[in-house]
Amino acid sequence: RVRCESGQNRSGLLREIRTAIRSEPFTDRYDVIPGRELGRGKFAVVRKCVEKSTGKEFAAKYMRKRRKGQDCRTEIIHEIAVLELAAACPRVVNLHEVYEMASEMVLVLEYAAGGEIFNQCVAERDEAFKEEDVKRLMRQILEGVAFLHRSNVVHLDLKPQNILLTSESPLGDIKVVDFGLSRLVSSSHEIREIMGTPEYVAPEVLNYEPISTATDMWSIGVLAYVMLTGISPFLGDDKQETFLNISQINVSYTEEELEQLDGAAVHFIKSLLIKEPESRASAEDCLKHQWLQPRQEIVSEPVSPAASSHDEEEESAQLTEELIVMAA
Ligand code: ADP
Ligand code: MG
Repeated sequence: RVRCESGQNRSGLLREIRTAIRSEPFTDRYDVIPGRELGRGKFAVVRKCVEKSTGKEFAAKYMRKRRKGQDCRTEIIHEIAVLELAAACPRVVNLHEVYEMASEMVLVLEYAAGGEIFNQCVAERDEAFKEEDVKRLMRQILEGVAFLHRSNVVHLDLKPQNILLTSESPLGDIKVVDFGLSRLVSSSHEIREIMGTPEYVAPEVLNYEPISTATDMWSIGVLAYVMLTGISPFLGDDKQETFLNISQINVSYTEEELEQLDGAAVHFIKSLLIKEPESRASAEDCLKHQWLQPRQEIVSEPVSPAASSHDEEEESAQLTEELIVMAA
């Protein structure tokens, strides 16, 4: 058990965990599947493993405690604490156990067999997500993010590599992973930092302005754009150009891929890719957005055609109204 007086510090890191840290060799209790690793980031390698006592599959995230000569155990403890905090949320990956060795820690995570949504984002259009898939997955991503935001946690690295699927075919459910950059935002301390992945980073991060839950909502906007079109909206030829595109909100809404979509999808994206963080839709707002509402079965409901078409008319009138407000 790790303790400190306040449980958090100025940097927005949680310092208290309740998961027992095991010191026996990880391989005593798990068989690590040889061969290809599940994934890797800057400081972590993730391997598939099987718990010997149960035969259950897990993903083992190996994290070095020292990175670039700096002790990062505090950051790892924070990542564990956030996973604990989100344990009740089915859209966030579950933490099973933690092991500590001399130079590494291993986070034993629920195995997401479908891998990163990144693969479908960059796939040829016929292999890529259909709009109906994106709607369902985006609803789930928002459920996860709304849960985190209610707990004052910002993820700060929402991108297709950190959104996994329980299965690929048939298309499963979303698991949000990687809380390595996440922070606790409280009203008392302002957090300003340069981090995240260039393509998904919000303007306030580039401008060294305060970070908030709205910072994640920008990334959700970029994510929706990429999932629907396969195009990364701000990606330039180099980092500099990407950052310039972001700070100027240089984004195209006239791409052919966007024109084939429900107008509400574009409206959804536009409600997020807004420079001022306070003007962006929240995760809760997004969950109520018209684009993500279940379709009404107006064709197969011959009993009350008048009522259905009336509802539809009302909804579309409401959307038109919102669009006019947007334009103004
Ligand atoms: P990093 O902080 O280094 O980016 P991540 O937690 O994002 O580490 O893990 C790196 C990659 O490993 C992910 O992008 C994903 O491909 C894979 N991965 C991570 N967790 C799981 C999991 N629970 N199940 C399957 N694959 C995973
Ligand atoms: Mg990652």
